[in-house]
Amino acid sequence: MLAYVRKNVSDLEYTTWFAPVKPLGVQEGSLLLGVRNSFTKDWFRDHYLELLLAALRSLGAEQPQISFQVLPAAQDALLLPSDLPPPAAPPSPPLPRSPAAAPGDNRRTLNPKYTFENFVVGPNNNLAHAAALAVAESPGKAYNPLFIYGDVGLGKTHLMHAVGHYLAERFPDKRIEYVSTETFTNELINAIREDKTTQFRNRYRSVDLLLVDDIQFLAGKERTQEEFFHTFNALYESNKQIILSSDRPPKDIQTLEGRLRSRFEWGLITDIQSPEFETRVAILKMNAEHNRISIPQEVLELIARQVTSNIRELEGALMRVVAFSSLNNVPFSRAVAMKALSNVFAPQEVKVEMMDVLRQVAAQYGTTPDVIRGVGRAREIVVPRQVAQYLIRELTDHSLPEIGQFFGRDHSTVMHAISKVTEQIPKDPELAATVQLLRNRMQGKEDEEA
Ligand code: ADP
Ligand code: MG
Repeated sequence: MLAYVRKNVSDLEYTTWFAPVKPLGVQEGSLLLGVRNSFTKDWFRDHYLELLLAALRSLGAEQPQISFQVLPAAQDALLLPSDLPPPAAPPSPPLPRSPAAAPGDNRRTLNPKYTFENFVVGPNNNLAHAAALAVAESPGKAYNPLFIYGDVGLGKTHLMHAVGHYLAERFPDKRIEYVSTETFTNELINAIREDKTTQFRNRYRSVDLLLVDDIQFLAGKERTQEEFFHTFNALYESNKQIILSSDRPPKDIQTLEGRLRSRFEWGLITDIQSPEFETRVAILKMNAEHNRISIPQEVLELIARQVTSNIRELEGALMRVVAFSSLNNVPFSRAVAMKALSNVFAPQEVKVEMMDVLRQVAAQYGTTPDVIRGVGRAREIVVPRQVAQYLIRELTDHSLPEIGQFFGRDHSTVMHAISKVTEQIPKDPELAATVQLLRNRMQGKEDEEA
């Protein structure tokens, strides 16, 4: 399950949010996840519920449910990975569908945070926003289908849900179905297997608003394309609104049937671009307010400068700063924010000098830079000398002759040293571990076992 999550979120989000989560087991048909505090719990509810449900579905759960439990601080600290049930175990038997969910009424799955009110409009997304609003105001009439495309984390899902909320509020009788292409595909496969294709069809062809997310995943899935084609036609012909999202425009979706592609182009195609600096700051501000956190403008600006392309990452960075300052009990400041983000961004700023490497290697082997650079030929000196040359070559931009000069040797000696270490590493676990340890240290990472 975590493997699935990992594929779908940034490294930053993964380390900030998912790595600390403890799977606690299955309770009353619902997967119970332990989280650190109620803030994290709300954050998961607002941001990652759909993703986690999709992860469970990908493992075969048909109607997965997830609940969160705040762990007492001590238990959190004491829980060891070995105490936990295997996280990948899919809940079985299939979880019952919650009683409130009538088929075709999927508005429960709309993320309550993804509304128009919570959507910051900027030059990067104003066309998509205007189109979504127009569609929400006159579904089936303005643009059908509405096709929104853009890179990951730029607000496509948010806009789709916003239309859903808007409609649900004004017309409580309208049937709204939000589905990821992946879920649509899986449900179709299950329906075929269980001989329930009629139910499947009825369900999707009887809605007033169909939101299909990440439609690029239809590529190469012929049976699903066929089924979706008929769903599309049925809805379109009865003037029901369809909104599709994708990471690219229809013409760039490979192996999409021509008849589907042309249908996707019938309505309006609009894109979302990466947000400008001001929009990023505004989004951070709104997020902070939403979470009732008061953060100085200059800190928000610093975060907005660090994270430039992806709004999900932007929010992740904000939360990292929040988590960092609350865990360390320090107020928000530029310095704190830099520190909180330093492991994640700007690793390229860690500039390594030849002398740094030499010193670290010498210390590791219990000798001194001078001895290593000297003339000694004893093994205790030759090995660290070769390791130092190897790491300098790897971690700096210096050429072989420059490294040679630094050691008072010529470049062929350095070349020999490097190939020697390269050869030895796979055969000598101790050497491999030492090199890895030194490498991590030099790159400013925690001491990690190789
Ligand atoms: P996509 O579907 O394009 O990958 P999402 O809709 O999941 O992106 O958006 C990622 C995150 O960024 C969500 O938490 C969403 O609320 C937030 N977000 C995206 N665009 C905006 C915006 N214009 N204003 C506020 N939040 C936004
Ligand atoms: Mg999305």
